[in-house]
Amino acid sequence: MLLVGGGHAQVAVLADFVQRGVPGGARCLLLTPEPALRYSGMVPGWLAGQHGRDDGLVDLAGLAARAGVELVLDRCIGLDPDARVVRTAGGGQIGFDLAAFDTGGEGQAADLLGEDPRLLDVRPIDALVDRLAALPAPGRVVVAGGGAGGVELAFGLRNRAGASPGQVTLVTGEGGLLPGFSGAVRRRVARALARQAIVVIHEDLRFTQGALVAGVRSLEPADLVIAALGSAAPAWVRDSGIAADADGFLLVDAHHRSVSHPHVFAAGDVAARADRQLAHSGVHAVMAGTVLAANLRAALAGRPPPRTYRPRRHSLYLLNTGDGSAIASYGPLAAQGARVLALKHRIDKAWIARYARLTKP
Ligand SMILES: Cc1cc2nc3c(=O)[nH]c(=O)nc-3n(C[C@H](O)[C@H](O)[C@H](O)COP(=O)(O)OP(=O)(O)OC[C@H]3O[C@@H](n4cnc5c(N)ncnc54)[C@H](O)[C@@H]3O)c2cc1C
Repeated sequence: MLLVGGGHAQVAVLADFVQRGVPGGARCLLLTPEPALRYSGMVPGWLAGQHGRDDGLVDLAGLAARAGVELVLDRCIGLDPDARVVRTAGGGQIGFDLAAFDTGGEGQAADLLGEDPRLLDVRPIDALVDRLAALPAPGRVVVAGGGAGGVELAFGLRNRAGASPGQVTLVTGEGGLLPGFSGAVRRRVARALARQAIVVIHEDLRFTQGALVAGVRSLEPADLVIAALGSAAPAWVRDSGIAADADGFLLVDAHHRSVSHPHVFAAGDVAARADRQLAHSGVHAVMAGTVLAANLRAALAGRPPPRTYRPRRHSLYLLNTGDGSAIASYGPLAAQGARVLALKHRIDKAWIARYARLTKP
């Protein structure tokens, strides 16, 4: 069995293997480039000084060791789903009988905005953290993207030690602030942005002849542009011939099994559901993880997948405003305050602690 990508869903598979053993005594490998997974939900809090830089890491190497899974630190760059082979960036080939993909999506900042040395994509998130950690006082920062990731990063950067009012600009694009969220949440977020003197521009951002422009307005001088524009599908999915949606994401059924190749499963941002719309978000990756674990266990025993992932009607999002408060979103409902932030910290830390415990004998 080959697990490709140690993402937010795959850690639930590793946890299942730690607790119950690798099913059927199968030989299992985890192919992923880094020995740890960075939990994206804690990055804005790290920027705002609420967490240490590595507080949000899940020890993939430790989990794999405890689960009896061999770890291969490399990345998938090609898939032949018929021959059941994955190609790696390091020049290797790994065969499999059964595979589960949770590699996340890829950054698309340069494709959407244009190339510029000041441009930094949020994906891969480790590179973002490394780059920001090396920039103690980034000066004028522009965040591109009006979704939850962009909003939280703008708040985090604004509350970074040494940041000053007006130094952070959030450019949402013409889609506006938090599309898909309720009016109540959007109003609270807009008020919090204004209170913190974060400039908000509802235009599309781009680099034109080396200059940063939103609509017809110049945003120069800018020292850093961070793009949180959603993720693109990895090219190797489309090139592989496996069933993919129109955007190139690996198409799976409600069991998170490929609709074209039943020996391939996928979850998280790299996957798209054939039966319903499912937003690419950490919440769904995490929730689909236990379903993936149960279905892989059954597949190894030659049984049909027993579980489907049916998302709840609404998902809980807790948006850290970086100033000791957070805004909760649950369908049409909104709430705000220090207690919402305390709840966010409790949920995030419990998720990390659960996996940390499993790495200990
Ligand atoms: C700043 C920020 C804050 C966010 N906050 C939230 C939030 O509060 N709530 C929420 O629901 N969502 C949030 N998101 C979105 C969330 O991060 C993603 O939806 C989530 O990370 C997707 O999880 P995943 O498992 O699909 O992929 P990832 O978490 O990206 O994990 C992918 C894994 O695969 C590995 N990998 C990558 N490429 C390869 C390859 N080619 N071969 C092998 N391995 C590979 C990576 O190293 C990584 O271990 C946020 C995003 C950002 C940027």
